[in-house]
Amino acid sequence: MIAQPNASHFVNGAYVEDTAGAAFEVIYPGTGAVIAVLHEATEAVIEAALAGAAQAQRDWAARRPVERGRILARAAAIIRDRGEELARLETRDTGKPLQETRVADWPSGADALEYFAGLAPTVTGETVPLGRDFIYTIREPLGVCLGIGAWNYPSQIACWKAAPALALGNAMVFKPSELTPLGALKLAEILAEAGLPAGLFNVVQGRGAVGARLVSDARVAKVSLTGSVETGARVYAAAAAGMRHVTMELGGKSPLIVFDDASLEDAVGAAMLGNFYSSGQVCSNGTRVFVQAGIKPRFLDLLAERTAAIRAGDPLDPATQFGPLVSAAQRDKVLRYIDGAQAEGARLICGGGIGNAGGFFVEPTVFAEVTDTMTLARQEVFGPVMAVLEFDTEDEVVARANATQYGLAAGVFTADLARAHRVIAQLQAGTCWINAYNLTPVEAPFGGVKASGLGRENSRAAVEHYTQVKSVYVGLGPVEAPY
Ligand code: NDP
Repeated sequence: MIAQPNASHFVNGAYVEDTAGAAFEVIYPGTGAVIAVLHEATEAVIEAALAGAAQAQRDWAARRPVERGRILARAAAIIRDRGEELARLETRDTGKPLQETRVADWPSGADALEYFAGLAPTVTGETVPLGRDFIYTIREPLGVCLGIGAWNYPSQIACWKAAPALALGNAMVFKPSELTPLGALKLAEILAEAGLPAGLFNVVQGRGAVGARLVSDARVAKVSLTGSVETGARVYAAAAAGMRHVTMELGGKSPLIVFDDASLEDAVGAAMLGNFYSSGQVCSNGTRVFVQAGIKPRFLDLLAERTAAIRAGDPLDPATQFGPLVSAAQRDKVLRYIDGAQAEGARLICGGGIGNAGGFFVEPTVFAEVTDTMTLARQEVFGPVMAVLEFDTEDEVVARANATQYGLAAGVFTADLARAHRVIAQLQAGTCWINAYNLTPVEAPFGGVKASGLGRENSRAAVEHYTQVKSVYVGLGPVEAPY
């Protein structure tokens, strides 16, 4: 039996329900069954969350960093102890196969809690000698941070935002996507069990309007959003009106470049991981697979063979490798992109339909003969649809890879490491891989350039985005006033 959250919100250390908020259903994408009915946050719930966070943050910031870290490390240990239960809940919330949720979602969240637990006590200011006088700096928390999550990695996103925020002395109010509201509630419950004082991590449910209400509240010092470019632009503008800090983790149309000296097996495997994992609902996916002309026929043959062997089915069956999309609406959107690609003249290599697994499935789909101007090469699909494009020269592929508004990620496969570094240096992307794809360990900064966002999550880089610097000039001599 899965211990599902028993109310819609988690505020001031406890589950809270307010049935005055509009009801919405949580649907298991594997079958379409309703697994919970929650309510959107009312003004009373939002007010309690913000007031509680502002109140709790002051005491929390005064604690020693090592104490804050100890609580986060305890939460990570609880997550690892309950790994199987949490993986099952994540699968029911998202439809992603158990094979993935056991190793990727909550485990990555636990990594973030452990990493920032350890990092917090090492965050110090600096001393700047000025001869007689000196300056010292203090890295202070920002205050109340707002986290807004997308539906593809709900628990990981909640952990990636909560871990640095809390470790560095902030409080957080988190609004999950209303499609996947359960994991963040579990995180709140686990943090409370680990000893996090009430009010420091609150979860409020709702659609975009609840997010918009939170973004413009005077008590919010920072907004960290994971979502689409369109939503990012709206949230960034609303945050700017109040001069709030932002981290924006947005969408992409990332290039994965395969030179003809690459290991074919590895390049095909990476292209599949970078398009079919989580049924393609990964922001950093390498959805424009540029393959050098000489290797392309063999690449497509092996790709088609391995894609045909992917095992789609019940996400809760441990043997299943490929699950449904998060919702019927997302499935229909992906199917429209598939129809459009065929209409624009791309060649369907495999997939293209819904298969016969039930739920909101779209088959793993590959198109070849995709050109740069086709919709499939320009817009983010957020589904299991790979576009294979052909190229001849290094200069050509760099120019084509960069010809997009996005800049989240990029990958290069080649045996020539000098070429790999040369190409990576020219690619406009925040997160890159050489002979690997979509690995995002907490030790690495993660984020995009251009329309794909700003700020970085994970790694030491996140410290800058959850703290601000106070500079203190210390005068040790007489004040020399000219009057
Ligand atoms: P959306 O941009 O639609 O929504 C993201 C979140 O913002 C949701 O919680 C949404 O609420 C909320 N929201 C919507 N409008 C507003 C508003 N005006 N003010 C405040 N909050 C608002 O993204 P999806 O959930 O559809 O996720 C898919 C997208 O996210 C893809 O485009 C993908 O590329 C991107 N993404 C980026 C990642 C990255 O790290 N770069 C990682 C994962 C996804 P609700 O959904 O309840 O309406």
